[in-house]
This record gives sequence, structure tokens and C-alpha cells, in this order.
Amino acid sequence: MKKNLKILTYGCQMNVAESERMAGQLQKIGYELAENFSDADLILINSCCVRSSAEDKIYGKIGELKKYKMQKPSLILGVTGCLAQKDGEDLAKKFPQLDFVLGTGRRGELVEVVKNLESARNQFVDTSNVSGMISDENIFPIRGGGVSAFVPIMYGCNNFCTYCIVPYVRGRERSRLPEEIFSEMREAVDSGFKEITLLGQNVNSYGKDHKLKTFAELLTDADKISGLERLRFMTSHPKDLSDDLISAMANGKKICEHIHLPAQYGSNKILRKMNRVYTVENYLELVKKIRAAIPEISLTTDLIVGFPGETEDDFKQTLEFLQEVQFDMAFTFIYSIRSGTPAANFENQIDDETKHRRLDELMKVQNKISLEKNLKHQNKIVEVLVEGASKTDKNIFTSRTRTNKLVLFPHETEKPGDLVQVKVEQVQTWILKGRQVKGGD
Ligand code: SAH
Ligand code: SF4
Repeated sequence: MKKNLKILTYGCQMNVAESERMAGQLQKIGYELAENFSDADLILINSCCVRSSAEDKIYGKIGELKKYKMQKPSLILGVTGCLAQKDGEDLAKKFPQLDFVLGTGRRGELVEVVKNLESARNQFVDTSNVSGMISDENIFPIRGGGVSAFVPIMYGCNNFCTYCIVPYVRGRERSRLPEEIFSEMREAVDSGFKEITLLGQNVNSYGKDHKLKTFAELLTDADKISGLERLRFMTSHPKDLSDDLISAMANGKKICEHIHLPAQYGSNKILRKMNRVYTVENYLELVKKIRAAIPEISLTTDLIVGFPGETEDDFKQTLEFLQEVQFDMAFTFIYSIRSGTPAANFENQIDDETKHRRLDELMKVQNKISLEKNLKHQNKIVEVLVEGASKTDKNIFTSRTRTNKLVLFPHETEKPGDLVQVKVEQVQTWILKGRQVKGGD
């Protein structure tokens, strides 16, 4: 009998990719993706704990889902992912309505756990094996619509930035085998995906464990996959972005001209306290090298304000750093204390008001830069890959340039996955708007 599965995914692209894999695993025992909670026989919350805001949202959601369990006692309710790994037993105790809590190292056991729960109910918690290698063989992800497929190439992180919980809840770095990655990429392309994004917490470390291929070699090989239009990757840590990777990008045909290169901050004092291992000067040097090799590259970043010990002077240096680098876009976060990480115990934690004031100021400066960068596209023709209808207006299509700029244009006859030319007529901070041009326009 067909059973309904509802998955709620929080957090990063890796979680999206893992939800798709879990949907694939569960399909083998009869679960199909459902739209509504009320139809579900199994609700899976794939959780995040990178900042307290994500955690609070998830705690609220689990509480809210209790009502479905009351309406339908046979419903199986489970939590997976980073918050499950971090709060395992506590989560299960706090929410007796949960049937299972499965840590990040136990994703491979999901089917077994669900099958057991179908026949006998006993709250089950397992957060062991956080650094274990999950076999991804014979896992066929059920990907949402769209034209871009996520393919994880490595799991875990060894960097231990002092603010970050990820190394604790994702375990040590493990690279997937190249042939496994290639067969998954080929399968994605054969099933119609035009774009692939390779995922890892720090893709530049790919292969350092098994030594079969470096990340630059992996990308160069992936660039040859026929039928694939565009190849992307994230995230790169600035400390070990190699010259080989820059040449692979410069020489690749499908590798897109975009690097997400989290800087986190623009003062050496704070970078040192964050354990980021590079200096502002190293970062600027790297940007120069990248831009020299790939002039059309777009650069995006992550920044954290309100890290313990941050002074007005540190903050000012960060604003200057932004002016100097000229990022296309930045994801900006307020420092969130993660208990168990070194920075949680650092002195001189910053008060909320100062954190918010600095975030606002940072965003203002960056937004102006983003807009100025986008203005360079005004009246230019850009090639975009069509994603599909916009969520707010069915007559408008969303699409992206190779440099990952979001482009909106009125829908004509094209369909998702098509490459089309769009003339940019209106420019905003985060989007370009235009109309399609065909030969001779
Ligand atoms: N592995 C990736 C990032 C993963 S987390 C990398 O190193 O680039 C995504 C982003 O969340 C980070 O880049 C950082 O900017 C932010 N982040 C991580 N921990 C945080 C914390 N405690 N408070 C606020 N932002 C945080
Ligand atoms: Fe977190 Fe740093 Fe690892 Fe990124 S590199 S996941 S920020 S510890």
C-alpha cells in the first residue's frame, strides 16, 4: 500500500540534498512524497542548528506537529540532521510525540528504523557514529523539480572555526569515491538536469583522505560530462583554494564563473579569534589571483557580525574590506552563541543592540555595492538557464546567469532547462529584470 511522506528541510543545501536522499531511501519501502501534513504517514524534520534562530524554529515546529499525531496515532514522526545530532536524547525527552531522533551519522539506517517503528512503537534515539561513512551506493535521490541537482562530494568538516557547531554535528571530513560521484552526476544528467552543484562544507579539502583525486581534478573530469550545461560547487574555504582549482575553473567550459568564498570577517584580530587561518591580506591576494585568471567571476561571501571582542575599529575594518573586495553579494549573519564551541566561552560577548546595529550598517554598505555591480548589466544581454515560473507570478520566469545572478523575465514559450538570451532592462540589489531576445532583436 502507498504510504505518504512529508519532509520538512531546514538549513543549508547539504540538508536539501540529504532530504532528497532520504526520500529515495524511503521510496524503497513504499513512501511517496506528499504535499500536506494531514495526509502523511511519516513526517520527517531534517534539522539545522547552525544558529539559534534555526533551532528555535524547529523546536516550535515539532511542538506544532503534535496535533497531527493526535489526529492520527499511526503517524510516525522523526527528526534527522544537525539538531538531531546535537540534542538527541534531550529532544526525545522534551517531545514524547517523537518516534525517532536519528543523528547525521545514522542516515543510512533510516529505512531500518522506520520499518521497526511500523511494527512496534518505541521511541528510538541514535546519535552514534557521527564521523562514519554512509554508503551512498544504490541511493537514488528524489529531487524536487528544477534544473539544478545537488550532488554531495564530501561530508563533515575538520576546520573548527571557533563559532561553528558544524564540525561537532557533522563529524570529520570524508570524501566520497570519484566513481560514485560520477555515476550520480551521470544519472542526474540522464534524468534531465542541466546543472549540477557539488556540495561539501569545504570542497577544497576533497580527496585529502582517499587521495584518489583532488577537487581540481574532480571538477576538470566533471566538466567533460556530456549533456551537462553548468557545473557549480560550494563551499570553498579561502585557506586552501588552490592554484590548480583556479586554473580548472579558468579552463573549464561548464564550470560557472562564480565562487562562494566565505570571508566571515575583515579584521585580522577577529579572523584569528575565529580560527579562520587566513589574514585579510591573504584573502585580498586570493581574490586578486582569482580575478586575474577569471575576469568575469562573481564573488559572494558569508559574514558574521557581533563576534566576541569585536570593537568599532574591527567593524570599521570590515566595512573597508567590503569596499575593497566588492563582493557581488554577501550573506550576513549575527553571531549566534553555540554552546560547546570555543567562542561561546570567549569574553566580551557583544550585546544584541550593537549586533543589530552593525548588521544593518553592514547590509547597507554591501547592498549599495551589490546594486552598483548589478548596474553594470543594465541594457546588456545575458545568457540564462531557465528555472521555472516565479513563486509569486506565474507569468514571470526565474533564471540564472552563469555568474549566479537571478534574472526575471516575462514567460514566453521557453521551458525550464532552456538556455535563453535576456536583455537586462531593470536592475535591483538582488535581481535583474529583462525580456527575452531572439536572434535579430
Ligand atoms: N562550511 C561553510 C559554512 C557552513 S555554515 C564554510 O565554511 O564556508 C554557513 C555559514 O553560517 C558560515 O559561513 C557562517 O557565516 C555562518 N555561521 C556559522 N556558525 C555561525 C554562528 N555561530 N553564528 C552566526 N553565523 C554562523
Ligand atoms: Fe563551520 Fe568553519 Fe567548518 Fe565552515 S569551515 S563548517 S564555518 S567550522
